[in-house]
Amino acid sequence: MSARLLDGAGLARQLKAELKAEIEAFVAAHGVTPTLAVLQVGDDEAASGYARAIARTCKGVGVAFRAETLPGEASQAQAVETLQALNRDPQVHGIMVLEPLPAALDLDALLDHLDPAKDVDGVHPLNAGRLATQRPPFFVPATPAGGIRLLEEAGVDFQGKEAVVVGRSNIVGKPMAMLLLHRHCTVTVAHSRTVDLPAVCRRADILCVAVGRPEMVTGDWVKPGAVVVDFGTTYTDAGLKGDCHQESVAAVAGMMTPVPGGTGPMTNVQLMTNVLQAARQAVAR
Ligand code: NDP
Repeated sequence: MSARLLDGAGLARQLKAELKAEIEAFVAAHGVTPTLAVLQVGDDEAASGYARAIARTCKGVGVAFRAETLPGEASQAQAVETLQALNRDPQVHGIMVLEPLPAALDLDALLDHLDPAKDVDGVHPLNAGRLATQRPPFFVPATPAGGIRLLEEAGVDFQGKEAVVVGRSNIVGKPMAMLLLHRHCTVTVAHSRTVDLPAVCRRADILCVAVGRPEMVTGDWVKPGAVVVDFGTTYTDAGLKGDCHQESVAAVAGMMTPVPGGTGPMTNVQLMTNVLQAARQAVAR
């Protein structure tokens, strides 16, 4: 048996084309271009690479992109000031703070100053709380939202299923667990202190992995026929690797997301969807 590979790259292309048309219609109707501002402090290569990727995605769908870059030695107060200026700017609809920040800065304290109405990455505590309590409007972090969308498009049935999420970050693991719970899965969240992780994973009808350890999950951790969602992205000498060992997992799973070409491309398109949502909410106010 070989798992059906879920083509996130293909679905993302299709969704981007649809989104581009929606954004064109929005601009025509309101004379407002949805705009995403990205705040970067310092010149970390991963953050810069992510900023370039976001800029390309914005261009592809007709979202305006604005880069706000502060020098690496900027103080917490300067970062807060820049963020607050973006909060006040009516031409900016979505704001993202790029990670990693220089070690001297406190990310959580900075994010507390982000306007929740512009928090398209879903990282402000108010949006996390709204997601947990299912009180719209809220922004769902793009990576888990994109992963769920990929499963929905593949016709995955969630209700009553055993779901295991490995990883409990605020940006991937925890919100993914919430989204599965809201779809009536029975959810277990596993992490670095989980005892006998392979046995926990083997319980899963839907196994989602967001750890960042390349090829950690092997086929013997997977229940035959399970749906496996791999959020891991680690650059190795052998190229981009997910958290799952693709060959052995694909031999056991019913469906799985490949790396590359699975959850990654869905993240970008979901972020753009969130920017359009923010712009819609702004014009409705
Ligand atoms: P974090 O480092 O914030 O979280 C990793 C989680 O994995 C933690 O909860 C940690 O547990 C857990 N973990 C670490 N080691 C183990 C282990 N040996 N066994 C079980 N659990 C373990 O990472 P992120 O959530 O930000 O990212 C996870 C992965 O997803 C990364 O590869 C990242 O690159 C990728 N990613 C992909 C995106 C995409 O678009 N596809 C977007 C964002 C991230 P503990 O809490 O106990 O420390």
